This record gives sequence, structure tokens and C-alpha cells, in this order.
Amino acid sequence: RASNLQGYAPICLGLEDFYTRRLYLRIQDCFGRPIASAPDAWFDVVERYSNDNNKTLKRTTKKSRCLNLGSYNYLGFAASDEYCTPRAIKSLKRFSPSTCSARVDGGTTTLHTELEECVASFVQKPAAIVFGMGYVTNSAILPVLVGKGGLIISDSLNHNSIVNGARGSGATIRVFQHNTPSHLEKVLREQIADGQPRTHRPWKKIIVVVEGIYSMEGELCKLPEIVAICKKYKAYVYLDEAHSIGAVGKSGRGVCELLGVDTADVDIMMGTFTKSFGSCGGYIAGSKELIQYLKYTCPAHLYATSISPPAAQQIISSIKVILGEDGTSRGAQKLARIRENSNFFRSELQKMGFEVLGDNDSPVMPIMLYNPAKIPAFSRECLKQNVAVVTVAFPATPLLLARARICISASHTKEDLVKALEVISRVGDLVGIKYFPAEPNKQ
Ligand code: PMP
Repeated sequence: RASNLQGYAPICLGLEDFYTRRLYLRIQDCFGRPIASAPDAWFDVVERYSNDNNKTLKRTTKKSRCLNLGSYNYLGFAASDEYCTPRAIKSLKRFSPSTCSARVDGGTTTLHTELEECVASFVQKPAAIVFGMGYVTNSAILPVLVGKGGLIISDSLNHNSIVNGARGSGATIRVFQHNTPSHLEKVLREQIADGQPRTHRPWKKIIVVVEGIYSMEGELCKLPEIVAICKKYKAYVYLDEAHSIGAVGKSGRGVCELLGVDTADVDIMMGTFTKSFGSCGGYIAGSKELIQYLKYTCPAHLYATSISPPAAQQIISSIKVILGEDGTSRGAQKLARIRENSNFFRSELQKMGFEVLGDNDSPVMPIMLYNPAKIPAFSRECLKQNVAVVTVAFPATPLLLARARICISASHTKEDLVKALEVISRVGDLVGIKYFPAEPNKQ
């Protein structure tokens, strides 16, 4: 629902009360209808197609299928994979949809231990622990890692699950300017005893939280610089790889592999299985001691039902495909494809003059609309032309930085992308998006 515009309609309406009637009227100016009576602008309930890896979806109210440019299906593992699906079905029959038990009360099957070993080895850490939900992984783990007397320094654009986890921890929270290592260093200097490096005092511990690829910006984390600063000031690095694990790096191992950072320098590696692996859940990977500590103390491990067995099997199988352990080169092809597709789509959008955020290799591509009033028009006109895009606005972005957020998949073909570019180009003109001269690609 967070990526479904229905969720944003009331927020846009709310603007009218205190901010301006103009925004509301602009929506009417564009296409003659107020946002509240524009249900055709949102994805309503959708039907998905497993036989095309969720490359298309259909609104239940419409006949035609739309090209799906909204799901986080980076490697195209979402359903109907020739290797993953039969195995997930087998595990469903063998273990049932749910263990109906917490991990420590009979909810740990052989699949769960296999999954944790598989994830640890994939992300190149000594151990890992998995949870049934990515969101909960952040929001439940941060309070276990740090509390009163501790300090969390969080990137200003970190995901809501991190924000909630930080707030729930009781630790002091400071925010540094998005992806700006120099500002992180400034904040650290202000917070530690006499501003000198090599100490975390007076704090019990300091945790710096960043994301591998920022979900609303499509930007890669400046991880090498951030890791160096954290070393200098004795702060732990917590890296959320929800959007980067599986999606970037030569063998899909995420931003550390892509940017040449030693995983030993990232203390807490977090990620979710809902993007590149076509499954559900989240993980924390780190030292054996850290993971053992979490297994003994984390309420979300002790009191929550363990991750669904077919979901666990889907993750194990998709990692095997990524690593070529299924005996084919499909994994390597998928990795090459997501990279090619992302770089092609980004550079074409830039050539057309759209302002696209993010870096090369990132499959997350926000197109700036700025004015939230353009959201329903952009979304509706794309849908009319059978392209489903997710549009996001406040509070997921700052108020006047609304955007359409494209997610590219390895399952998209070149023809799909060319068709989508044509539609976006037409809709851009129709809705009156600001254009900018193309700039050379970043990075
Ligand atoms: N972290 C980040 C950076 C995210 O973008 C998201 C959701 N997209 C989550 C955590 C939560 O993951 P999930 O949707 O798998 O619960």
C-alpha cells in the first residue's frame, strides 16, 4: 500500500487545509477533476501474472495488461522461475505455509538454518539471522543494538523502518545530510568528547545507519568514505541493502562488491528478500557474536512466528541461481540484464530531458515531477497507455519534491523499455514536466 497511490490521495487533500488551495486547484486545472474523484489515476486492486515474472499486471477493473514499472522485482524472480518455483511448491507441501511457531519454540526448520547459512555466505559475513518481514528487521533490531546512552546517526533520507527503529531504541538520534560524508564527520565531531577522533565517548556506542541504494533517490551510498569516517571515530556501520543486495555488484553481492568495500568494515549488514529475491522477509548479517546475541535477545526472533518455509526456500533457490549453483548461467545473465536495462533506461530518460535522480547501475529511477498536483495526472495518463508507474509524494518525499519512481527489472525486454520510454515521453509533455539539458552520467 505504501507504493500504491491510494495511500497518498488523502495526504494531498490534507494539503488544502493548511497549505494552499492552489495545489488542489492545479490538479483540477491539469485534467479537470479534483484528486478525490480521480480513482482511475491509482492502481486499484491488481492481478499479477506469474507466467511472465510479474512483468505485467492488470487492474481488476480494466481489461488490458500494464507493463509493470513499479514492483521491486529487480532480478525477475517474482514467481514462476523454472528453478525456484518447483522448489518453493515442494517446501510448501513438506513444511506448510507457516510454522505457526516462533523460532525458539519449534519454528526453526532445516530450511531456516540452511537459509541463514546461505545468506551469511552470500553477503560474506560469518553469520546471519532472518526475520519474516524486512520492515520489522530494521524496526526491531535497532532497539536491541542500542538504547539509552547510545547514539544513532542516521542519513536524513533513511527508510521509515529505520526511523521507527531508531525512535523505538531510546538512543539519542542525530541526522546527517543525505549521503554527505563531510556532514557525517561534522556531526560526529560535535557529538564526541572534545571533537577528537578515535573515541566514541561520551556515548556508550555510536551506530551510523545508511542505505546501499536509497529507495526514493536511486542513489548509491558513498560507502567507502562513510566507512573510513566511522573507523576514525569508532562508530559502527549499519548498512540497509534492501534495494542493493542481489541487484548490483559483479556477483549480485550488493554495494560492498560494487564499490570495493570490505564487508569486514561493515559491522551490521541488513537487507530484505522482497526485492531481488522475489520473496519475503529480512536479514541481519554480522559477526558470530553479534548474531548469537540477537538470537538470545531480539523479541522479533523470540516471540514472532518464523519466516514462511516456501518464502525461505524461494530465497535459497534464487541465491543459488544468482551464484550459478543451479548449473546454468541464468544468474549471471540476470545480473548483466538488470545493469544493462537500468543504464539504458536512465540514459534515455536523461537524453529526453527528464530530471532523473540516482546513479548508474541503480535500478531505482525517480523522475522528478516536483509539484504533487502532477501526480494523479502522470499516473493516470501512463496507466491509460498501459504503463504502471508508482508515484510518490509527501510524506515519503519532501513536500514539493514529488516524483514518479521507476523500478527496472531484469525481466523487462528492450522492447518493453522502448515502449515505456515512448509513453513517458508523451505523458511528460501532456503533464508539463520540467525538462533539463542532459548531463553526463554521474559516477
Ligand atoms: N528498508 C528499505 C530501504 C526499504 O526500502 C524497505 C521497503 N521497501 C524496507 C526496508 C522494508 O522492507 P520490506 O518491504 O521487505 O518489509
